Amino acid sequence: MSNYSIGVDLGGTKILAGVIDTNTGTVIEYSKKRTQTEFGKNSIIQNIIENVEKAICKAQIPVSKISSLGIGAAGQVDREKGILISSPNIECYDIELKNILENHFNIPVYVGNDVEVATLGEMKFGSGIGYKNFVCIFIGAGIGSGIVQNGEIYQGFTGTAGEIGHIIVDSGGRACSCGGHGCLEAYASRTAIEKKILASLKKGHNSVIRDIIKDEEQIRSRHIKQALEEGDEIVLNCITEASEYLSSGLATIINFYNPQLIILGGGLISNIDFFYEITVKKTIAKSLPTPSERVKITRTALGDFSGIVGASLLEKAYLEKLN
Ligand SMILES: [Zn+2]
Repeated sequence: MSNYSIGVDLGGTKILAGVIDTNTGTVIEYSKKRTQTEFGKNSIIQNIIENVEKAICKAQIPVSKISSLGIGAAGQVDREKGILISSPNIECYDIELKNILENHFNIPVYVGNDVEVATLGEMKFGSGIGYKNFVCIFIGAGIGSGIVQNGEIYQGFTGTAGEIGHIIVDSGGRACSCGGHGCLEAYASRTAIEKKILASLKKGHNSVIRDIIKDEEQIRSRHIKQALEEGDEIVLNCITEASEYLSSGLATIINFYNPQLIILGGGLISNIDFFYEITVKKTIAKSLPTPSERVKITRTALGDFSGIVGASLLEKAYLEKLN
């Protein structure tokens, strides 16, 4: 078996594809594109194919030397059939990723959930090296987590474990995309922070964020970072509030699961030191003494590449399970 595999991270905002050396976790080359959800299933598949082909071309490695293609998709997946069943962020249903991509590239295709594969990447080649029981939490458009138990990804009875974005931090509170109320991601995800900032602007509060984002559609973590550096009070309040809720969620994880390690990832965490640091401080203060004294909290080591590195390892993980 060749040691090169393709890893694809299919998210609501971007599609990232890379050629990975699966022995070392090295990203040989990669290609990135905005996810075009507005033209439906076929254009998403086309986006993936173009991205993968571009990464292969840049890496100058023939397809015959690539053993598999793994894909981590943001949403609910059927791992056996390789189907993306539903995804609120990609706004598409029943995409037969495995069938279509196997026919196109003529190599085996493996499909997993995006957070699950990013956790696999961090476990094998990132901040999780040397740890057997930990949780990887990603704060982006939503909030998701991967659970590692005894060195293996724990998927839960029905395969949906780790939905930390939907633990309830405010009973009867803000509406969440899941249909419930008061969920963590309705308070601490990038989307939630963006909504809160926009609501403050609507009320007429002064903020530099309007000048920073110019005519871009969304408030990104880099915009938030810049606003904080310029001392913007609206953004500071929104970030502080989000960290209050996020730390409550993380303290719950520490008390409930007693992990050795918590790995935090996503744009807000990797780009904004202030957000990361106050969240860690508040988390430790809110958790029970015994588990919080020993738990280590850190950031992802692979950053943006956790997903593609993890996805490229899906074939190996699958074969290990068979043996
Ligand atoms: Zn929810």
